Amino acid sequence: MSYSCSNCDESFQSAAGVTQHVALHHNTCAVCDDSFDQTDDLREHVHTTH
Ligand SMILES: [Zn+2]
Ligand SMILES: [Zn+2]
Repeated sequence: MSYSCSNCDESFQSAAGVTQHVALHHNTCAVCDDSFDQTDDLREHVHTTH
């Protein structure tokens, strides 16, 4: 089974791979799909919301 990015066509072997990819390349939360301008904002969101 593979996991694909909801923002582009890339696919990954693990859910962790997708999470890392969307955070790095799209600044988008893999859990709720919110997007952020800053990587720090995303990190804060994941830390406080999930
Ligand atoms: Zn992507
Ligand atoms: Zn989220």
